[in-house]
Amino acid sequence: MTGIPDDYSLEIHPASAPDYMPVPQMLELQLGRLRATVRRAYQHVELYHQRMDERNVSPEDIRTLDDVARLPFTVKVDLRDSYPFGLFASPLEEVVRLHASSGTTGKPIVVAYTQQDLGVWTDAMTRTLAACGLGRGDIIQNAYGYGLFTGGLGAHYGAEALGATVIPISGGNTDRQIMVMKDFRVTAICCTPTYFLHLLDRAAEMGVDVRELPLRVGVFGAEPWSDSLRRHIETAGGIKAYDIYGLTEITGPGVGSECRCQVGLHVFEDHFYPEIIDPDTERPVPEGEEGELVVTTLSKHAMPMLRYRTRDISAFVPGSCPCGRTLRRIKRISRRSDDMFIIRGVNVFPSQVESALLAVEGALPHYQIILTREEGLDQMEVHVEVTPAVSSDKVGALENLHNKLAQSLNQTLGLRVAVRLVAPQTLKRSEGKAQRLIDRRNLDQ
Ligand code: ADP
Ligand code: ZN
Repeated sequence: MTGIPDDYSLEIHPASAPDYMPVPQMLELQLGRLRATVRRAYQHVELYHQRMDERNVSPEDIRTLDDVARLPFTVKVDLRDSYPFGLFASPLEEVVRLHASSGTTGKPIVVAYTQQDLGVWTDAMTRTLAACGLGRGDIIQNAYGYGLFTGGLGAHYGAEALGATVIPISGGNTDRQIMVMKDFRVTAICCTPTYFLHLLDRAAEMGVDVRELPLRVGVFGAEPWSDSLRRHIETAGGIKAYDIYGLTEITGPGVGSECRCQVGLHVFEDHFYPEIIDPDTERPVPEGEEGELVVTTLSKHAMPMLRYRTRDISAFVPGSCPCGRTLRRIKRISRRSDDMFIIRGVNVFPSQVESALLAVEGALPHYQIILTREEGLDQMEVHVEVTPAVSSDKVGALENLHNKLAQSLNQTLGLRVAVRLVAPQTLKRSEGKAQRLIDRRNLDQ
């Protein structure tokens, strides 16, 4: 038993060669690139120059990979404060592309790419798609949003470099997505897991059984999703669903990807150097333990990032992967450190709510968490959509489901939570990231 699926192709895409690099060679490559990146950041970015001087570190002090710990961190606020171009290390004449992430409040954050940076990003996305088992002959429906978001163009360039056929359909217009998926004999789709769920529901309404289409792979990312949701998607869609990870500040999608073994995401660490730290002590955690993922870019020119605090919680997966890649793996990101909310003194992550709901038969994975404050006391209500079968059933079935959900939530969270069952198709659908949490507590004060 190797853990490699039977249909695993032994053919390696040429772009994936660095995935299999012997570790000593990788370490040497990383050190050379780290030193060059630090020099560049120090020379061309005011913020890094200042912060390194404050810490009494000069680029020459970076002699081993462990010296990364001497470098200053970068946080999201640094990007906001330097809006729009303050962290660029290249003159605008060399910048060929800008992207921006939504940035949940106020101004977006802006990132820049030189031609070479676009090459690095394309390389990382080609290797991502290859790791998901895709290659020439695949027809990839790219339903990540094109535009200022990184998802669309990132996956697009990767798919083309892979030699696959890419359909740049972008997000939205679900009926047309389903028509294209069917008529163009699409074999793989790229989008958020929640948008794929929506596609599945709509396809069912239109009388299309996605399991009978040639679609065989889903390349899903941009938001946390649980393993239970993966199982649901794989069964309902008749596909293999892979998790991919990335963030605008570092490049966009393509920072890490699952391989066919689906145990952790390989980090493309010749371009992106990962650390897992304890967010409080800011020291590395022992291998295998959870902490905050911190990433330093090793190949970027226009906007090098030193030790970017992602706020995403993960862990290194110990041991080697049966797929043969030597790249380190990180655990799937189930939560962000700033995702957590506290209800009556209990810490809750949205991912725990999802797991509790999906443990119960008959609930669709569409839900929303609503927090309110009544007379100074925090209340949490979970709205769950039921399946059409249950909703048309007699009252007894609904009551039964309601009780099971409440019980499952109570057990998982250690908290009594109000559950409200809502009719199919009543919760707002998203074409990108789902908004699971609606926190009205401050408004209600
Ligand atoms: P925005 O800040 O506008 O949401 P990004 O696309 O840059 O734009 O979002 C990156 C964030 O999305 C990551 O830091 C992480 O929290 C989340 N994310 C991306 N991919 C995944 C994934 N596979 N699993 C969990 N979370 C993810
Ligand atoms: Zn692997």
